[in-house]
Amino acid sequence: MKVAVFSTKPYDRQFLGGLNDERGHALEMRFFDPRLTDQTVKLAEGYETVCVFVNDVLDAEVLRGLAAGGTRLIALRCAGFNNVDMRAAAELGLTVARVPAYSPYAVAEHTVGLMLALNRKIYRAYGRVREGNFAIHGLLGFDMRGRTVGVVGTGRIGVVVGEILRGFGCELLAFDKHPSDMMQALGADYVSFDELCERSDIITLHCPLTPETHHMISDAAIDRMRDGAMLINTSRGGLVDTAAVIAGLKRGRLGYVGLDVYEEEADFFFEDLSDSIIRDDDLARLLTFPNVLVTSHQAFFTADAMRQIAETTLGNISRFASDGAVDEANAVRPK
Ligand code: NAD
Repeated sequence: MKVAVFSTKPYDRQFLGGLNDERGHALEMRFFDPRLTDQTVKLAEGYETVCVFVNDVLDAEVLRGLAAGGTRLIALRCAGFNNVDMRAAAELGLTVARVPAYSPYAVAEHTVGLMLALNRKIYRAYGRVREGNFAIHGLLGFDMRGRTVGVVGTGRIGVVVGEILRGFGCELLAFDKHPSDMMQALGADYVSFDELCERSDIITLHCPLTPETHHMISDAAIDRMRDGAMLINTSRGGLVDTAAVIAGLKRGRLGYVGLDVYEEEADFFFEDLSDSIIRDDDLARLLTFPNVLVTSHQAFFTADAMRQIAETTLGNISRFASDGAVDEANAVRPK
């Protein structure tokens, strides 16, 4: 089976290419550096499978281009599939597979890392000490113990975040359409989204991006939050209305913001743009706040997670190559 891998970075070659050889999958993989877009879709001509990541564009136009070029399987090497027009994929007879679970620990641990780094201002301390500035004024933090953390979306990742924070002695609030027994066993109280915003010292987002969750962190949600609340988003950028967050930071309602994802990240994240001008004014503004910490969609990025992603992705492709189907648990279908 011929596989066109888009948005390739050295670590994709390492894990996907390496495991393909190691496990004898014998897939004919071609690694392309660019993202899949309407400009690059031609590269996929003649490839039965395209392997894509979070910022590849799979809208109806691109999917039509893929189908016309002979593609039959879209193998996402990630969990989220908000970048795929699933209705168009189904109409075109394209099979879509993903990696629903790899390491919830990777994302959960990065989430808590952002909380601690913001709270204790570790990124600022690092800069100071390197400059020979050993003063600690301005670095005042708070104890996590006893603080209330609101977890929005209590699936695989949200529950692990809950487990870690329980270890710190935090109180847990949760919001999800489908409450989790595991989260309740941790002592979490399920409340409405509004109540979660009102009562939490820290709010952390772990639900998928859907039309329903798009911009759930809005002006109204921020208005409900406690003064100085911390907001963490390691899920998808579109959950947050960036303009509302900037306004919330400017008026002090938001005291800390940690983002591993950004709604307009596709043109920036995963690239070295250190010699370029950032033309996105919202992103540029966010980076000026001393109480904002942005990472470049790296929450998933552990060796353990990369191995698991490669394993499931190659398994999906090989299964499709042998019998034209993918495991039900990994198949993505339109709602
Ligand atoms: P999951 O499917 O196990 O859990 C998602 C939870 O969100 C479910 O419990 C679901 O009921 C809930 N949910 C769905 N719609 C909701 C709504 N409208 N309101 C409240 N809750 C809702 O997913 P997961 O594995 O825990 O991953 C969560 C998200 O994390 C993914 O959708 C993905 O966007 C993101 N993610 C980010 C990274 C990263 O590197 N930053 C890596 C992996 C996943």
